[in-house]
Amino acid sequence: MKILFFSTKIYDQQFFTAANEAFGFELKFMELPLNKSTAVLAKGHEVVCVFVNDIVNTEVLQELSAQGVSLIALRCAGYNNVDLKAAEALGIKVVRVPAYSPYSVAEHTMALILTLNRKTHRAYNRVKEGNFALQGLMGFDLHGKTVGLIGLGKIGLATARILKGFGCRVLGYDIASSAKAESIGVEFTDLDFLYRHSDIISLHCPLTPDTYHIINKESIRKMKNGIMLINTSRGALIDSKAVIEGLKQEKISYLGLDVYEEEADLFFEDLSSKVIQDDVFMRLLSFNNVLITGHQAFFTSNALEKIAGVTLENVREFGEGTSLQNEVKP
Ligand code: NAD
Repeated sequence: MKILFFSTKIYDQQFFTAANEAFGFELKFMELPLNKSTAVLAKGHEVVCVFVNDIVNTEVLQELSAQGVSLIALRCAGYNNVDLKAAEALGIKVVRVPAYSPYSVAEHTMALILTLNRKTHRAYNRVKEGNFALQGLMGFDLHGKTVGLIGLGKIGLATARILKGFGCRVLGYDIASSAKAESIGVEFTDLDFLYRHSDIISLHCPLTPDTYHIINKESIRKMKNGIMLINTSRGALIDSKAVIEGLKQEKISYLGLDVYEEEADLFFEDLSSKVIQDDVFMRLLSFNNVLITGHQAFFTSNALEKIAGVTLENVREFGEGTSLQNEVKP
């Protein structure tokens, strides 16, 4: 089986090459992203392996199909970038890695919360320069604070467990009920209650038509003054312009992002010698109470090992014609 990888970095190549010792597939790694101009490169490959910002829309799928591709193997959990209906119509199967390490994302969520609160990033720079003044570094106790989680799946639950350990009250909203969440002491609420009572709100639901811009002008209006907002899920859950307005009005006092709606043009690349053209992103960066990381929440060695193993196992199942455990259907 020949697998063509799009959007790869050196770390993808290392982890997939190691995992492939147990499978023996023919792997070809490319740094290029998948889009309508690169889809043609899939010629001669039955499987293409893609990541979060690769474009897998109808046009791209038609080209992949014409080149003989019959499996899209996502090396991530989210699949909002794939037109599943078009794939099904073309007879292309889609598989993903539904769970690799919820801890990686939950722990990064905590890193954003703790850094924004205790300003360790600023303290690090100050101490390096011999400045030991504390003015401007004051935080608050997480113990006793109310944290609202939107989405109580694997990552939401892992985050809830950590927050409970910190002594937080955890509110949760999900379209599905969860006995697990209740058993660890998460209080199920509606969204309005969660907005009105949370000191910190963290997003852990997928990007769907229902959750697109779930954080908007109206939802921000309902939140407590001084809210801390965290998004490690998908950029388009947040209307960035509404959030900028919330920051300017000092309604939002802390913003932690690992994802951004227009991240495909920015993230995973070194643009340090270029002029960034995205004015919304640059405005976000200009606030000293905004902390942005470039979609790195998943980026632990444990997660990469699991992602590589599960992706190749998905391909093996496809090759052997057995049922696809991790298939994504429309
Ligand atoms: P999951 O499928 O286990 O859980 C998602 C939860 O969201 C489910 O309980 C589902 O019922 C709920 N949900 C769906 N629609 C909802 C809605 N309209 N309102 C409220 N809840 C809703 O997924 P997971 O593994 O916990 O991952 C969550 C998301 O995290 C993924 O969809 C992905 O976008 C994101 N993610 C980000 C990174 C990163 O590196 N930043 C890595 C992995 C996953």
